[in-house]
Amino acid sequence: MTLTEKLSELQVGAVSPGEPLKDHCTWRIGGPADALAEPSSKEEIARLLAFVREEEIPLLVIGRGSNLLFSDKGFRGVVLKLGRRFSALSVKGTRVRAQSGVWVPGLARIVAGAGLSGFEHAAGIPGALGGLIVMNGGSLRRSAGENVRYVDALSRGGEFKRFAPDECGFSYRRSVFQDGGARAGWIILGAELGFEPSDRRTVRKACLDALAERRGKFPLRLPNCGSVFTNDPKVYELAGPPGKIVEDAGLKGATVGGAMVSPLHANFIVNLGGASAADALGLISLVRRRVFDRLGVWLDTEVRYASEDGTVIPASEACPR
Ligand SMILES: Cc1cc2nc3c(=O)[nH]c(=O)nc-3n(C[C@H](O)[C@H](O)[C@H](O)COP(=O)(O)OP(=O)(O)OC[C@H]3O[C@@H](n4cnc5c(N)ncnc54)[C@H](O)[C@@H]3O)c2cc1C
Repeated sequence: MTLTEKLSELQVGAVSPGEPLKDHCTWRIGGPADALAEPSSKEEIARLLAFVREEEIPLLVIGRGSNLLFSDKGFRGVVLKLGRRFSALSVKGTRVRAQSGVWVPGLARIVAGAGLSGFEHAAGIPGALGGLIVMNGGSLRRSAGENVRYVDALSRGGEFKRFAPDECGFSYRRSVFQDGGARAGWIILGAELGFEPSDRRTVRKACLDALAERRGKFPLRLPNCGSVFTNDPKVYELAGPPGKIVEDAGLKGATVGGAMVSPLHANFIVNLGGASAADALGLISLVRRRVFDRLGVWLDTEVRYASEDGTVIPASEACPR
């Protein structure tokens, strides 16, 4: 029996063999995975975990792939995608419970529509709630960790744990959920988020203003993964935000293969069409080297690189110095 046949027989949701990972990330880069499964229940996820554990198959968890660079060789194992099929949510008073596949911009609309404030910062982030929590993502100097009341997760061994906020290790674009790899680490099932009661129209307007500002600033037409480099406070003090640093280094419009530093915003790398992971990593390396030569600091990346064996690390750590 093939891997896909075994997975289909197990009933772990929608299963696709040889799935091109470029179709599951906003950068549109990445080779095929052996198989991709999209469960729609906790039971299906638990069955998949037990199967890969017994068969010793690496597992890579993804949301909407808006912060991931997949290897050109793809992934030798099973990708567990928690997206549209795992996205139930409910609103009770000022609290919202949501499964990890919930689309963040849709969640921001629902929160605003319920007359709740505190999630305006996430209105334009094109990820799933699980990915947002893993990355402690946000904007306007806010982060998702501030909204979290608890996070529900499964270990690779199938053990359930409810994480209190102080157990999540939230700091700037960091959380404990980034630790692990293809054989360890937590799988976020969902979370409860807390907000403040407010006026519906005011919150909606704040969301629309945030979206309009992003549309004016960010290159949204070509495939990209959002901000590539992190905004380290020490580096900020020295030379400003990463976009300015890359621009000052004269790198707007620089290309490696099909990857280009956006001429609109230098902290974005866009795929001009047919860019490979090697192109994107090559361009990240070039930027880092040029900035190091000018300022003596190595820029770290927010975007994470998923290698063929399922190791997920900041892309900067996958670049040769
Ligand atoms: C145009 C654009 C604008 C962006 N703007 C912002 C912004 O303003 N602020 C910001 O913070 N980010 C921004 N991003 C980056 C990205 O959208 C966020 O990091 C987002 O939260 C990632 O969510 P995702 O579902 O796409 O995660 P993925 O990219 O799929 O995964 C990210 C990481 O989380 C892990 N993961 C995903 N889901 C789970 C789960 N359920 N359980 C365990 N691990 C999981 C993955 O293995 C990976 O390590 C932007 C991206 C784009 C393309």
